Amino acid sequence: MSERHVVVLGAGLAGLGFARHWPGCRVFEADGEPGGHARSHEFGGAWFDRGAHICHSQDETWLKLVTAAAPLHEMTKSTVLNHKAGRWFAYPVQNHLFDLPKADREAALADFLAAQEKYRGREPKNYEEWCRFQYGDFLLENFYRLYTAKYWHVPMAELATDWLGGRLLPSQVANIVAGAQGAVEEKQAVFRTFRYPRRGGFFAMLAHLADGVDVRLNKRAARVDAAQRTVTFADGTEEGYDALVSTIPLPELAEMIPDATADVRAAAAKLRALRQYCVNLVVERETLSPANWFYVYDPDIEISRVSFPFSLSGECIGRTPIQAEVFLPQSARPNEEALLEKAMADLGRLLKFPASAVIAAEIRHYSRSYVVSDLDRAAAVRHVRDWLRGRGIETTGLFGSWEYIWSDRAFAGGRALAQALREKPS
Ligand SMILES: Cc1cc2nc3c(=O)[nH]c(=O)nc-3n(C[C@H](O)[C@H](O)[C@H](O)COP(=O)(O)OP(=O)(O)OC[C@H]3O[C@@H](n4cnc5c(N)ncnc54)[C@H](O)[C@@H]3O)c2cc1C
Repeated sequence: MSERHVVVLGAGLAGLGFARHWPGCRVFEADGEPGGHARSHEFGGAWFDRGAHICHSQDETWLKLVTAAAPLHEMTKSTVLNHKAGRWFAYPVQNHLFDLPKADREAALADFLAAQEKYRGREPKNYEEWCRFQYGDFLLENFYRLYTAKYWHVPMAELATDWLGGRLLPSQVANIVAGAQGAVEEKQAVFRTFRYPRRGGFFAMLAHLADGVDVRLNKRAARVDAAQRTVTFADGTEEGYDALVSTIPLPELAEMIPDATADVRAAAAKLRALRQYCVNLVVERETLSPANWFYVYDPDIEISRVSFPFSLSGECIGRTPIQAEVFLPQSARPNEEALLEKAMADLGRLLKFPASAVIAAEIRHYSRSYVVSDLDRAAAVRHVRDWLRGRGIETTGLFGSWEYIWSDRAFAGGRALAQALREKPS
């Protein structure tokens, strides 16, 4: 079936995963480089990703493909912290209640144990119920609701639970009780061990995936004629296809097909993703924190997550690069300079360095990062993708399946689609 002319939109990991398994296809990428959201860039003598990226995959095929591509730092015991109201405590909070003030610890444990009894066997209908059933009211109100508000910008009761697997931990009573009685080593967290390239950022282990793939750069798809099977690019050129594989955001794809029906457009318009700002700093300090990364619960601090790229790569050159991530709704248009200034001041206060120690600072903006798994998502995605499939357009990847997936799954999704198309009659 490889003789079918397949056109791929987007040279992120999903597009590359497809293309590597469909010889002869052409990949059209809007940017000047392949890699999409997995790309890294150099700034101030350090490498930064588009938000903290680590390789914590358990997928043997993926690991075989990517771990030999660059010398790696193998982290066998990550340190992940939380910050709230001037206090540092280990992640995830429920497993480390001993780090909280005594009254909070006791209230959290009592509520947790009560929830285990009260909600046993109940199926949560949304993320709020999931947290209440798993962790109890105290942790829900004092931690999970606060973090959801600044990270997802959606009421917890509007979020589904289909994104939690491999991210949030179901409670284990023995762990939580032990963690309330004394400091314990974190054994349950998903990111306990990970790999990261020693140089060049996360993308250093992935860049080779574009080798041998026919990627046409700076080609932004602007219009798709599903009846004539042609794509028109922003530069005015056109490409015909027998089958179209799209990894670009579903709402954009629906917008560029003139005969998309009103219900398809309406479903696509329901899909939400977060806008992301990364504040990247290099600070003239050997070390600033024992953490690889930490989460910030304080409502008056816009930053949700802070990571230390050298602690991921294992480098040590007397300076500390820091990346702070701010997530906002799609509609937000903050003043970037003010956001950068505020983030620098907040980081200086949290990590105790003066503004004069900052030797490089930038803010970068990514219009889409995490997909919001609200209660409308699954049905809306199904509706849009079914309509597209009926017109010879398959979609895959983070924004093509509109699903909160890691890099290994984005690539594997592309590969699986190539296999499925091969088995499908043309
Ligand atoms: C904040 C954040 C942190 C993450 N952390 C991790 C992590 O720690 N570990 C991990 O494994 N994964 C992580 N991920 C997930 C990982 O980055 C993604 O799953 C993966 O990069 C998605 O690849 P993709 O090809 O599906 O999408 P993308 O990377 O978005 O690729 C789509 C491509 O399409 C291009 N495009 C868009 N519009 C057009 C158009 N009109 N015409 C042509 N091309 C177009 C884009 O430029 C892009 O290159 C993280 C993701 C985010 C958002």
